[in-house]
Amino acid sequence: MKIIVQKFGGTSVAEPAQRERVCGHIANALQRADKVVVVVSAMGRAGSPYATDTLLSLLRENGSGNARETDLLMACGEIISGIILSAKLREQGFRTCFLTGAQAGIITDRTFGDARIQSMQTEYLLTCLQENDVAVVAGFQGKTPSGEITTLGRGGSDTTASALGAALNAEVVEIFTDVDGVMTADPKLIQDARLLSQVTYNEICQLAREGAKVVHPRAVEIAMEKNIPLRVRSTFSDSPGTLVTNRGGGAGGCDVQERLITGVTSLSHITQFRISKKPEDAIKAEREIFHRLAEEGVSLDFISIQPEEIRFTVKEENESLVQSLLEKMGYRFHILPHCAKVAAVGAGMTGKPGVMSRVVDALAAENIAILQSGDSYTSLWCLVKENDMKKALMALHKEFSLGTKEH
Ligand code: ADP
Ligand code: ASP
Ligand code: MG
Repeated sequence: MKIIVQKFGGTSVAEPAQRERVCGHIANALQRADKVVVVVSAMGRAGSPYATDTLLSLLRENGSGNARETDLLMACGEIISGIILSAKLREQGFRTCFLTGAQAGIITDRTFGDARIQSMQTEYLLTCLQENDVAVVAGFQGKTPSGEITTLGRGGSDTTASALGAALNAEVVEIFTDVDGVMTADPKLIQDARLLSQVTYNEICQLAREGAKVVHPRAVEIAMEKNIPLRVRSTFSDSPGTLVTNRGGGAGGCDVQERLITGVTSLSHITQFRISKKPEDAIKAEREIFHRLAEEGVSLDFISIQPEEIRFTVKEENESLVQSLLEKMGYRFHILPHCAKVAAVGAGMTGKPGVMSRVVDALAAENIAILQSGDSYTSLWCLVKENDMKKALMALHKEFSLGTKEH
């Protein structure tokens, strides 16, 4: 049985006119496959009545929900969205049924708010597909083995789609969103960002981890493991978007190996900590600080240990927790809030000299101070002030000739 999985993000299902377009894409998929599994996000963005952020503020304004109940509430957004789309499809003559994540057999651990999928039990979904052509599944949610409802982390409907694609051995997982596909930069920040017709799982995974929220990195990892092709495309056009596979090149694609930099990306709301230590106490300080932060579950980035200083960054939301932990342990430290991480990502930079020099020159030409830097085989990162973030992205995008315009 040929199955296509299609996922529609919040803006794609926000209003009746958009849901009409969604029905068109589903009809098109039914011409290419026997059955279509449709994964939906909650309708709209913050402010829309049933969007995830709206549900979260409703809870905040009325008390303090615990993690378990917050997940139950958030899961309602996708359930409402899926039932509404299924009703529309039925009205248009499709044979359709709706399933929650739990009913679709998505079994997770108990990490409320950021649960990991442990197994996929798709028997009931397959039964539903025998009687229907379309199964609409609520994205972003699953259940623990004991039946608690969990959510998969913000942006997690992509993960639902990939996990279903992998479990059902789908022909393709199509991620429909509000931009044309994966681009060289966030088109909302960089006007001349260019569409990439083909990227590898690794490239998009790096971009996604460094902040390009167009696809959730976990969704890419799951598709990569089973080698299920992903296509990222726009709900609002018929253009083919971006094909994500493990291959570079191919018809119409460019050879990713030749691409020095695939794209640039950024993450804001970051705080830098610089902690002083005496060289004679260095080992004790390192162990004490990192153990304490690990116990509190604080995730660190830009970690740099030097003889007289430890540096790292945390998400702004963890700033006061880290500050009070360090104060209690009696360390002297300096906090720099309102930072951003800009990254240049590209498999082609591995082993090529001169990339960092171009990054440094491009940022210097715009008078942007690099507060810290880091690198891996396929990425270079710079910490800059949040106010400089957009300028830095533009400078790097231009330096590596990523845009649609000639520079
Ligand atoms: P959805 O609700 O459809 O899941 P998201 O908001 O999660 O949509 O992701 C799509 C958004 O990702 C786009 O609107 C765009 O602003 C942003 N984005 C960031 N980086 C990129 C990139 N490199 N290519 C395409 N979109 C990007
Ligand atoms: N609605 C959820 C969120 O806003 C999941 C998703 O959209 O993928 O994070
Ligand atoms: Mg998303």
